[in-house]
Amino acid sequence: MDKKGLKSKLLVLEEEVQALIEQVESASKPVELDQSSVGRLSRMDAMQNQAMALANKTRQNEQLHKIRTALRNIERDDFGRCVECDNHIAEGRLLLDPTHIYCVSCASAIE
Ligand SMILES: [Zn+2]
Repeated sequence: MDKKGLKSKLLVLEEEVQALIEQVESASKPVELDQSSVGRLSRMDAMQNQAMALANKTRQNEQLHKIRTALRNIERDDFGRCVECDNHIAEGRLLLDPTHIYCVSCASAIE
């Protein structure tokens, strides 16, 4: 398995996700309660946008956690094995997303 290639891919992913988190962080600041300049509807829009940004941030943080776990585990001999059945995860699957922890059959059984 090309662990070097997977590792550099993980590092690129890590940077991308970190940049996204910084982006949504500025979008998920508390909604300003300035009644004079913001109408009722646009305030609701702003709150909706904020909720979406927060959900997005949660997703990105989960992704970052998965990437870091994979980066920690990649040096181990059992990297690339399914955590459920211990079979090897197909290399093509890992190349697509190195954070996969399930093989194809376990992943489809879970989903
Ligand atoms: Zn499996």
